[in-house]
Amino acid sequence: MSDAQPTPRPATLDPAPPRPELSIVVPVHNEADNLPILVERLKAVLDGKVASWELVCVDDGSRDGTLAVLRLLNASDKRISAVSLSRNFGKEVAIAAGLDHAAGDAVVIMDADLQHPPETIPLFLTKWREGYLNIYAQRADREGESRLKRNFAKAFYRLFASFGEIELPEGAGDFRLLDRKVVDALRALPERARFTKGLYAWVGFPGTGVTFEVAERQHGESKFRFRKLFSFAFDGLSSFSTVPLKIATWAGVTIAIISTLSALFFLLRTLLFGTDLPGFPSLIVSIMFFSGIQLISLGMIGEYVGRIFAEVKRRPLYLIGERVGFDARTVDHPR
Ligand code: UDP
Ligand code: MG
Repeated sequence: MSDAQPTPRPATLDPAPPRPELSIVVPVHNEADNLPILVERLKAVLDGKVASWELVCVDDGSRDGTLAVLRLLNASDKRISAVSLSRNFGKEVAIAAGLDHAAGDAVVIMDADLQHPPETIPLFLTKWREGYLNIYAQRADREGESRLKRNFAKAFYRLFASFGEIELPEGAGDFRLLDRKVVDALRALPERARFTKGLYAWVGFPGTGVTFEVAERQHGESKFRFRKLFSFAFDGLSSFSTVPLKIATWAGVTIAIISTLSALFFLLRTLLFGTDLPGFPSLIVSIMFFSGIQLISLGMIGEYVGRIFAEVKRRPLYLIGERVGFDARTVDHPR
């Protein structure tokens, strides 16, 4: 970890800026229209509820002038700062970048599209002051989503519960409040394939849920395509479980036993009754069946190898194009 502390400066000359009590981290991809509304709603909710707050927006390779909007917001309110990544790295990585830049004693992660109502934050704060460190918002229902996505999510949670070594609270997403301790623990995790939902659960700490109603997206449309969700789900399973590999092994063992038994059967039958060379169809079928199993198993191993490859390359998780509003503050290097 490159978490080396910056050399302390003489306090009289250049005092380090005080930590805000609360940081709001928002991954942003083409949300120019939503940001000003988000800021207004946040201000209305937070002022008076916390001693001090900051908003850290991570521009994840937007192409719609989001960065210009962020610059304007920063010019009008210094509590708003932004990190612009060099390209689109995906929401998970954008959140990691945000956590690296947030300075608050507690950090709230939320979407920019106002589907996560800022009015939930006071509920988070109440729980935090009660002593919980890892507080997640659970959606009351999944009504706004397509049937396909809903069923897929359900199947995934069920699969994860039976495969994974950790428990995911159902319906909990990225909308949550993390204490500084949890943020530091997350930042210390070195992996590149960041299945954040799993990581939040993996780090532990006293946690609790708060229910919220998912609102309609204000402007623009959801950026998650089904294919992406699928690879995301496999990322989750593969980074928290080796069960898919074990399934391949057990399928292999079972099939090996069955084929040995049937080989014995055919041997005996030939010895006892001779042969008239039938069975061409079953031959073809079994060849296809076994090559299928082999390819699936190879594919599964390949998925893991690919992920190992991504980890060992040790590329930085993200690259920063520009920082807005961070000049006064020392920022650790990205990993
Ligand atoms: N997002 C991002 N990078 C991406 C895709 C999305 O930072 O590549 C952000 C997006 O701006 C929003 C949040 O992640 O703040 C959730 O995205 P979206 O609303 O598209 O997803 P959904 O709510 O449909 O799951
Ligand atoms: Mg959304």
